[in-house]
Amino acid sequence: MYEGAIQDLIDELGQLPGVGPKSAQRIAFHVLAADPIDVKRLAAALQRVKEQVRFCDVCFNVAEADQCRICRDPRRTDEILCVVEEPKDVVAVERTGEFRGRYHVLGGAINPLEGIGPDNLRIRDLMKRLATGAVKELILATDPNTEGEATATYIALLVKPMGLVVTRLASGLPVGGDLEYADEVTLGRALEGRREVEG
Ligand SMILES: [Zn+2]
Repeated sequence: MYEGAIQDLIDELGQLPGVGPKSAQRIAFHVLAADPIDVKRLAAALQRVKEQVRFCDVCFNVAEADQCRICRDPRRTDEILCVVEEPKDVVAVERTGEFRGRYHVLGGAINPLEGIGPDNLRIRDLMKRLATGAVKELILATDPNTEGEATATYIALLVKPMGLVVTRLASGLPVGGDLEYADEVTLGRALEGRREVEG
């Protein structure tokens, strides 16, 4: 459509999730018209995120040190562990203001169609954490869709012999969607009304 740098930028932007061709074009021309200082800041932020951000050694949330902010917080309880798929789900649960435990980020969900099995997720690391015995309740807060349900069922069966309380978020979340799309009131209620998974 266009030539050179502007088309390259449109193509790159078009690779981003949720950015269609029209949005990519709009953003590219916004960048073209923007103040050079603002564009430099954006470019630097893009670079920094790859250079500085890493995953927490304990929970695999995004972190800028060995451990993330949540794992370092001494005011939180180790007794409740909330299992989520992605770091963005940590943000979603945090927004509810209802949760004072810790997290474990799986890095996705079981999805046979895309070749993602339990070994591709941080389930073994989860089992290691649970083996210390500190966790009394495990909340399975995977997404309310087929993959999320399959992942929750898999983990529930796996941890059953450990004798801890395993809960799942209450219904009321938009089915088929992502946890992050639920507003904080709905998610807070689902967290509050979580129910024990029957084995
Ligand atoms: Zn952490």
